[in-house]
Amino acid sequence: MGLTGIQILGKLPKKNCKECGFPTCMAFAMKVAAGQAEITACPYVDPKVVEEIAEATAPPIRTVKIGGGEYTYSLGGETVLFRHEKRFENPPPIGTFIKASMDDSEINRRLELYKKLFWERVGIILRPEVVMLEGDGDLSKFEALVKRVREELPHVGIILSGSSEAIKKGISLCGDFKPLIYAASSQNFDEMTSLAEETKTPLVLSAESLDELSDLADKAIKKGLKDLVLDPGSKGLRELFEDLVIIRRAAIKKRYKPFGFPVMVFPYKYTDDYLLESSIAGIFVAKYASLIILSDLKAESLFNLLVERMNIFTDPQKPLVVEEGIYPVNGPDEWSPVVITCNFALTYFIVNGEIEGSRVPTWLLIKNTDGLSVLTAWAAGKFGADTIAEFVKKCGIEEKVKHRKLAIPGYLAGIKGELEEELPGWEILVGPREASGLPAFLKKVSAELLEQAKAA
Ligand code: SF4
Repeated sequence: MGLTGIQILGKLPKKNCKECGFPTCMAFAMKVAAGQAEITACPYVDPKVVEEIAEATAPPIRTVKIGGGEYTYSLGGETVLFRHEKRFENPPPIGTFIKASMDDSEINRRLELYKKLFWERVGIILRPEVVMLEGDGDLSKFEALVKRVREELPHVGIILSGSSEAIKKGISLCGDFKPLIYAASSQNFDEMTSLAEETKTPLVLSAESLDELSDLADKAIKKGLKDLVLDPGSKGLRELFEDLVIIRRAAIKKRYKPFGFPVMVFPYKYTDDYLLESSIAGIFVAKYASLIILSDLKAESLFNLLVERMNIFTDPQKPLVVEEGIYPVNGPDEWSPVVITCNFALTYFIVNGEIEGSRVPTWLLIKNTDGLSVLTAWAAGKFGADTIAEFVKKCGIEEKVKHRKLAIPGYLAGIKGELEEELPGWEILVGPREASGLPAFLKKVSAELLEQAKAA
C-alpha cells in the first residue's frame, strides 16, 4: 500500500527550508505521494525512513535502469493499465541483436545501422537505444564485439547473452555502464542469479509459462535480487499478448510482487515476415513491453515504431511545449519579417520547418500558451490581443527590427484591429491559415520590407 501525503509529512523534519525545491514540507510530501518527487530530494530524512518511504511509494512495476550517465534507460516503472488514467512512464527501448559468431560484414552492417538510423521529431531524437550481444562461441570475438559497441555506440544500452563466462567478461568490459543479463531460466537459475548478485547487474528471468516465471521471480526476490526483467517465453502470439496483460494486471491491480517487473519481448520469434514483426512490435509498444528486440533494424519500420512509441509515451495531460522567446530562422536582420505563433511543440516545428524551407530570414516569436494550439489558446484567453501585445512589448523584438510589421496566424484574423490598438505603431499582417502558406507569404512580406529598407 502506498502512503498518503499526510503520512509522508509525518515522517519529514518539517523545517520548511525549501532545499528540496518545494515551498513547504507539505507540498513536497504531496508530490512524493503522487510519485512526482523522490524522497531523497530532502537531505534531512533519516536513511531508514527514506528506505521505508521509497518502498511504500514505489511504482507497482519496478523501474530497472540500464546504461549510465546521459544514456541511462529506464525500463518499467509503470503505474497504470491505461494511458488515459495518468500516463505511461518509460518508453520501451527498441533494438536488435548482434551475435559474435556473425560474419564481420554482418556485424559491421548492424553496427552501422545504429549510427545511421536516427530522426529528430518535435525536438526529440528517435533512434534504436539497445543492442543484445550474443556470445555464442569464441569468447575473444565476443569480447571484441562488446568493446566495439562501447567504443562506437556509447549511447546504446547493452543486453549480454551467452555463457556465464562470456556475460561476466562483458559486464567487466561495460564498467560503470550497466548492462542487462539475459537470462536466468530453471536450468541455470543459481549460476545466473549468483552472477547478477555478485556484479549487481540487472537480470532477465526467462520461463516457458507464467507459472514458471512466477516461481523464478519469487525465488529471485527471496534471494535478494531487485532489478529483474521478465521474459514470459510465450509460445504463440496470442499467448504472449495475454501473458503481458495478465502480468500487468497482476502487478497493478493485485500488487503481485513476482510480476512487478518490466517485461521484455522478441517479436521476431512469432513470424518470419519483417513487416508483420514490426506490426507485432507495435502492439507491444502499447501493451505492455518494456524492452523490444527485433530481428533487424529497417528504417521504414523502425521510424513508425519510434513515432508510435513517442505518441503513446507522451503525457496526455501535458502538451509538448517549446520555450517562449525569439527564434531567429535563416539568419534574420533588422528588416526581416516577424511572425508570431503559440508554443505547442507541433505548431512550432511545423511553422519553423516551413520558414526554414522558404529560406526567408525571419524572426519567429513563440508566445507561451501552455502548449495549447493557436485557436484553443485564443479561446482560453492565452493568445488574445492583450497577451500577444504584452509579450511583443517585453520580448525584445522592438530592439531587433527597424520596421513594425507583425504577422499573426490566419486563424486569428479577427483580433487584427484589437491588436493594432494594443500595439500602437505596429501594423498587424494576417498570415496564412495553414503553415504551408508561409513560404509564399514570407517572400511577399520580405520583398515589401526590402523596399521599405531602401526608402529608409
Ligand atoms: S528539504 Fe526537507 S525539510 Fe526542507 S522543505 Fe523540503 S521536505 Fe521540508
